[in-house]
Amino acid sequence: MSIMYKSTRSNGDKVTASQAILKGLAEDGGLFVPDGIPGLEMGLETLADLSYKETAYEVMKLFLSDFTKEELMYCIDGAYDDKFDTEQIAPLVKKDGAYYLELFHGKTIAFKDMALSILPYLMTTSAKKNGVKNEIVILTATSGDTGKAALAGFADVPGTSIIVFYPKNGVSPIQERQMLTQTGENTHVVGIVGNFDDAQTGVKKMFGSKELAAQMNEAGYQFSSANSINIGRLVPQIVYYVYAYGQLLKQGEISCGEKINVVVPTGNFGNILAAYYAKNMGIPINTLYCASNENKVLFDFFNTGKYDRKREFILTTSPSMDILISSNLERLIYRIAGEDAAKTKELMDALVSEGEYSITPEMRERLEDFIGGYASEEETQDAIKRLYDKTGYIMDTHTAVASEVYYKKAAQTGVKTVIASTASPYKFTRSVMNAIDSKYDSMSDFELVDQLKEISGVAVPQAIEEIRFANILHDTICDKSEMEQTVKNILGI
Ligand SMILES: *Cc1c(COP(=O)(O)O)cnc(C)c1O
Repeated sequence: MSIMYKSTRSNGDKVTASQAILKGLAEDGGLFVPDGIPGLEMGLETLADLSYKETAYEVMKLFLSDFTKEELMYCIDGAYDDKFDTEQIAPLVKKDGAYYLELFHGKTIAFKDMALSILPYLMTTSAKKNGVKNEIVILTATSGDTGKAALAGFADVPGTSIIVFYPKNGVSPIQERQMLTQTGENTHVVGIVGNFDDAQTGVKKMFGSKELAAQMNEAGYQFSSANSINIGRLVPQIVYYVYAYGQLLKQGEISCGEKINVVVPTGNFGNILAAYYAKNMGIPINTLYCASNENKVLFDFFNTGKYDRKREFILTTSPSMDILISSNLERLIYRIAGEDAAKTKELMDALVSEGEYSITPEMRERLEDFIGGYASEEETQDAIKRLYDKTGYIMDTHTAVASEVYYKKAAQTGVKTVIASTASPYKFTRSVMNAIDSKYDSMSDFELVDQLKEISGVAVPQAIEEIRFANILHDTICDKSEMEQTVKNILGI
């Protein structure tokens, strides 16, 4: 079966996977979705014997059907190598009855590395396949982790440059330092006076501007996106859910075909959507728990059928989930609307004009695979301390939101549960250490790093050692209204 991609907002022409990766966003402002979810070709029992790379090939060949085997192997081999600090790439560790799928063993110690290590390979391969001559300008909004992972992935990749916008006061000190010390001639980092939603809206606007696209083309540039709206991010994220199922089988924790639950700490809805696609491919997943922090727009949506972004934006200790407009939800909306592009467009337009929309009762019924949960700031802190006291294992704040939702909702079901562990605790050291003991409050960021090593016994990741003494290389700041001008200045157009 050959998979093509279509927009969620109109029934226009379909594009190939490589074209969808190059474009990022469809021209009508919709997101690209596969025109069918392919089923896994191999039996579930064989998954236990596959390495991460082999699993990646099995999944990605189905979705990226215009890539040759050689092209895909080149991309996979280039991405999942010793940039990761473990050969397993995504280890599954059992703690207090739940299975933490550690997605933070890549270069920038957050789960974004799982997809952003391979995206530059997919992008340059796609450019070659489609005879693209322009330089590809990766334009990205980040709530903290995508930015660094995308910068690290695209730094000095020939034929590309990358511009990252982040909320100046909305990321952790370590996240900011990681971005501002990024090397590479083709990398640009801009802090905006505004929040993540402002950054994401500004970036989407630039993608939608035909005028800007024409000016860019004239100067030999074209945009693409490293955000999770790009299917080149979504598809690699499906892989680790398939891999996790294989690992549970291999470790003898489940029998073949046994259903599992998945809990995902959610922001832009990309990670959990990948789990949903894995389920649709045939991985026996019972329930998908969507875990939110205090910006619980998704929790309310799953409970009421109404998506309402008109609320205060709260800065939490899990900043990568501080989002009120979860872009990838559009792909789920399209699906539960029965692939009705006009209906999807109507709801997405209402979100812009009214700040809210409600889905129909029939659409709600199709959400039965999902349960929404959330954790307050206090519950998140308590979750870190609870697991540490019980097991000595230290998780980051985002994972803790999911862990709390697991204890609240999933633990009692008796179904084996995988919790997506999305960042290393070293990335959010201050919040993590404060949760364990308030005495750490007075220490500096790097003193805390050393303390964390002391009490966890986990070595300090290379990503942290690197930024200890690195020079700040980026200092551009702009207002949220000046993003387009800033891009023009950077590109000299
Ligand atoms: C991006 C991110 C999330 C949210 O993932 P989405 O795919 O945006 O839902 C959660 N945790 C961490 C650490 C992240 O970086």
